[in-house]
Amino acid sequence: MSASKEVIAWVEALPAEWIKCRDDGHDWKDHSCHLYDGAYDVIRKCQRCTTERIKVVHARTGERLATYYAYPEGYTASGTGGLTEADRNLLRLTNVRQTSATLASVKDASHRRRPGSQLAA
Ligand SMILES: [Zn+2]
Repeated sequence: MSASKEVIAWVEALPAEWIKCRDDGHDWKDHSCHLYDGAYDVIRKCQRCTTERIKVVHARTGERLATYYAYPEGYTASGTGGLTEADRNLLRLTNVRQTSATLASVKDASHRRRPGSQLAA
């Protein structure tokens, strides 16, 4: 089974950094924290794709009241009815290929800068 045409087109249009988020998870960083109506809204933001995770915590008890996400436009595969295992495999393979290409180009560049290096032998 392979990914649907809609998902293939969506993956091809995703920025490389977003594919890393889809496959490996987000790169969270604290963004803001607000006290509102008896609860804290603790907001963390992904450094790659700008997705925000909003955790709502009861200000007195610490109970987690809710957690929800605000995604940038195009991040979710809307209209596809949810991702299948084949879709996730496509995301994973795309991520691996992009990572491999990035690492190979860095390695190649370092070899070009040090043609006489013992490490390159
Ligand atoms: Zn992200």
